[in-house]
Amino acid sequence: MLGGSRVDATLRLSAVVALQNDAVCDDCFAVGPAAFAAAVTELQRTGHDLLGFWHSHGNGDPRPSATDRRELWREHLHVIAGVDAVGAERLCAYWLDTDLGFHALPLTEQDDDR
Ligand SMILES: [Zn+2]
Repeated sequence: MLGGSRVDATLRLSAVVALQNDAVCDDCFAVGPAAFAAAVTELQRTGHDLLGFWHSHGNGDPRPSATDRRELWREHLHVIAGVDAVGAERLCAYWLDTDLGFHALPLTEQDDDR
């Protein structure tokens, strides 16, 4: 789970809370309600808003899968980790609109004092 702040179209990611995947298939994700609520509470306790979620793709392709297009939360940030052809890690960020559209977002790193 990803937390941070949002000002207009700028998302500032500043917190990550790990969630255990209770799903039994390779291309799906499920979290129990108690674990989900605890993660949201942790974000709020530390002053962060829920921005979205991150997950990885075992096949290495960091683009949204067919399952992602059906099941991910709309109006949230989704960061997908994968690897390229030479094994280097790749992170891709997307905003998912209610119309089911993924919009690629640039990822930039900033110091805490900006
Ligand atoms: Zn996915």
